[in-house]
Amino acid sequence: MNVLIVGAGIGGLGLAALLKQRGIGCEIVEKSPNLEHAGYVLTLYPMGSRVLHGLGKFGEFVERSSPFNSYEVHNGHGDLLHRFDVSKISAEFGYTGQILRKDLLDILRSAASDVPLRLGNGLEHLEQRGERVHVRFSDGTTGVYDAVIGADGLHSKTRRIIFGDEPDHETGWGVWVWWTSVEPPRDTVREYWGKGRFVGLYPTPSRVGAVAAGPKRLLGPDAISGDGLRVRELFSSMVGGGADVMNSFPSTTDGLFFWNLNDYRSHRWTSGRVALLGDASCAFLPAAGVGASMALESAAVMADELSRTNGEFIAKSFALYEKRRRRRAELAQDDSRKLAVWMAADSAPLVWTRDHFMKVATTDSLVRNIAHSLGEPI
Ligand SMILES: Cc1cc2nc3c(=O)[nH]c(=O)nc-3n(C[C@H](O)[C@H](O)[C@H](O)COP(=O)(O)OP(=O)(O)OC[C@H]3O[C@@H](n4cnc5c(N)ncnc54)[C@H](O)[C@@H]3O)c2cc1C
Repeated sequence: MNVLIVGAGIGGLGLAALLKQRGIGCEIVEKSPNLEHAGYVLTLYPMGSRVLHGLGKFGEFVERSSPFNSYEVHNGHGDLLHRFDVSKISAEFGYTGQILRKDLLDILRSAASDVPLRLGNGLEHLEQRGERVHVRFSDGTTGVYDAVIGADGLHSKTRRIIFGDEPDHETGWGVWVWWTSVEPPRDTVREYWGKGRFVGLYPTPSRVGAVAAGPKRLLGPDAISGDGLRVRELFSSMVGGGADVMNSFPSTTDGLFFWNLNDYRSHRWTSGRVALLGDASCAFLPAAGVGASMALESAAVMADELSRTNGEFIAKSFALYEKRRRRRAELAQDDSRKLAVWMAADSAPLVWTRDHFMKVATTDSLVRNIAHSLGEPI
């Protein structure tokens, strides 16, 4: 079997490593010129970290990540609303850690080290003809494959080619991500939920990631044109810890990344010999921090299905993959969207209600589907 994986992100590299283990021939194309950019901090829940056991990479993940034991939600005045004991999840289901995206890519790449990877080359076009998929790349070269798996993220070109262009699901919010000198305890994720403003701190062993989120019309690069001081001003209503974090925001946004807080749900994941995986099929907002775990789970199911077939029945395997994965991913996405709505509350009554609810909230009441999925087979 000769499989093309489009995208060397979490899902694409994870899948490449798993296919390699099963003796399934594959290669990867990645449009970025390298995998070096640190990106942001990722939480990997047991659903994701379990996949690393099978790749012999679990120990390395633990070494290069900070254990996620405690999740603190504060209000916009810096008062602690709730401290969730995440260590209980880890004790029951497996390790949960915080890691730089780059470090996780590094770990996955080392597990797939002899899978050919072409950097700086993107998928441009594909066409299914009989039992083959004909592909054209951005450098003008072409290839013919038994199957193509689009692991090319939120704005998947693979998806647009096979299913057409559909708009993202927009929250209207965006987020700046930077590295800060403010140091929360290494095992604690700390967030400040203000009125129409959000600040978060995510520690890893080497750096602490900070994010500042709010409405794009106020906070986006177009609105503040490179001026970090204006971003800080927008958060001036925050006091206490949230204000300390915002004081560490750089004075210019040059070199920083701004992410639109959009996601996407594809109502079909497969078409014949082409399949979607990870954010390409069901993209996640950072709220709930479960997108990377879901991408790795999907990679595990895809590898399992492909290991039980030959070239003739690939389309059938893809259909089974979609049946095993789509509902579970969409339920997790529902949780992530609901959590994002709470985080983005911007009217005084809503903020009041949210803050009171958060004091008594349980993991189940916030992310019921994700919590439930930990105990379910994939
Ligand atoms: C700020 C932020 C914080 C987040 N925090 C968390 C978190 O804490 N925990 C969590 O689980 N998730 C988090 N997420 C979401 C998580 O990053 C994604 O759900 C996850 O990375 C999805 O993996 P993926 O492999 O599907 O896509 P990606 O990791 O996005 O990889 C897609 C890859 O495809 C490549 N590509 C795109 N188009 C082409 C093309 N045409 N040809 C070739 N290559 C192409 C891209 O360059 C990229 O390398 C966060 C996201 C953001 C933006």
